[in-house]
Amino acid sequence: MESLAERRLRLMGPNVPTFYRDPVHIVRGEGVWLWDADGRRYLDCYNNVPHVGHCHPRVVEAISRQAGILNTHTRYLHEGILDYLDRLTARFDHGLTQTILVCTGSEANDVALRMAEAVTGKTGIIATDNTYHGNTRATSQLSTRRPPIGGYPGHVRLVPAPDSLHPVGGSPEGQAQAFAAEVARAIAELEEAGHGFAGFMLCPAFANEGLPVLPPGFLDPTIAVVRAAGGLVLCDEVQPGFGRLGSAWWGHAHMGFAPDVVTLGKPMANGHPVAAVVCRPDVMAAFRGAFGYFNTFGGTPVSAAAALATLEVIEAEDLVGNARDVGAHAFGLLRGLSHPRIAEVRGLGLFLAVEFVLEDGAPATDFAEEVVERMRQRGVLLNRIGRKMNILKMRPPMVFARDNAEMLAATLADVLDGMPA
Ligand code: PMP
Repeated sequence: MESLAERRLRLMGPNVPTFYRDPVHIVRGEGVWLWDADGRRYLDCYNNVPHVGHCHPRVVEAISRQAGILNTHTRYLHEGILDYLDRLTARFDHGLTQTILVCTGSEANDVALRMAEAVTGKTGIIATDNTYHGNTRATSQLSTRRPPIGGYPGHVRLVPAPDSLHPVGGSPEGQAQAFAAEVARAIAELEEAGHGFAGFMLCPAFANEGLPVLPPGFLDPTIAVVRAAGGLVLCDEVQPGFGRLGSAWWGHAHMGFAPDVVTLGKPMANGHPVAAVVCRPDVMAAFRGAFGYFNTFGGTPVSAAAALATLEVIEAEDLVGNARDVGAHAFGLLRGLSHPRIAEVRGLGLFLAVEFVLEDGAPATDFAEEVVERMRQRGVLLNRIGRKMNILKMRPPMVFARDNAEMLAATLADVLDGMPA
């Protein structure tokens, strides 16, 4: 009989790969737990989409209640959206008071790029050379897993992503200056090529880059360089946003800089597809002057209900505080692991990474892959990141508890024990 994996391949083609050699067939979720079709339970240490926990009753209730009253496109007046945006923008400083609602992080970043074009009248964009900002045509040109056909377009410049194990520039101040110098060089190249400089798009935690440990103030000189050149700081909060780092609601607040545009996605409505672009009114005015924009599904009444319930749960259950406390506990436990392949353990709230290298310091890609697979066999779901995919990435739902962290660390210790060195 055709397996589910075979059926998926037949109907969806090879372009929608699943995680793990033996893909998991999930049928139910609750909190940090997932169950497969055979009733086996998995600890979810990877999913940032069910931010407040799988199937949180308050979010489920809000979605179903609103779905039973009204769900339609976004061309009518509705309080639900405005109630949500009042609550959301109250969480921002720096005059970021206006929002466009969209459906995905990719769409949000696409709009952010156009905002930078609209404000500056230029097209040049800078991103790091090991990142992901989305799947639209424009954002995929900044997403470096697979270079675009014909190479990167001239208006895109990629600067070397910060690398925790191989920092450039020496002292903390030197590292910050070295990164800023790369951005300054890229701006000069864009100017020289006639594109001009519109903006720098970055994830404030450099999450897809591998979650590097960065010295305090690392981004300060870079932000100054971007501003001096008249470009916009486009801050992709799709991963660190909504408190994951434990120290603040937003990654830019953690890093201490003021963005011109912030994009939000994945965790925003606990799995319901809604995302956002938050900006100052002057940026919004320039965007609306240059581009018409309408998004049929971006911020429907049901999306607004889901997003509001998610925000309320983050506040009511102090999930930012939980990310800080449980994240610190998990970080301490992971730091206590010992194995010759572990090069560094990194943690920012409930965003944790373990980088593996070989004896000669080369990335231990196969080793990391094997660890991920063995963890999956042991019922703990996580995955990998990094230029060479040699870094374990853990980013669980924010209701992750201390005993979940202990189970994660104990299972990883066991798996590492059983691994050939
Ligand atoms: N930005 C970042 C930093 C991401 O990690 C992702 C998705 N992995 C996106 C944008 C794109 O979001 P979406 O898949 O919702 O389009």
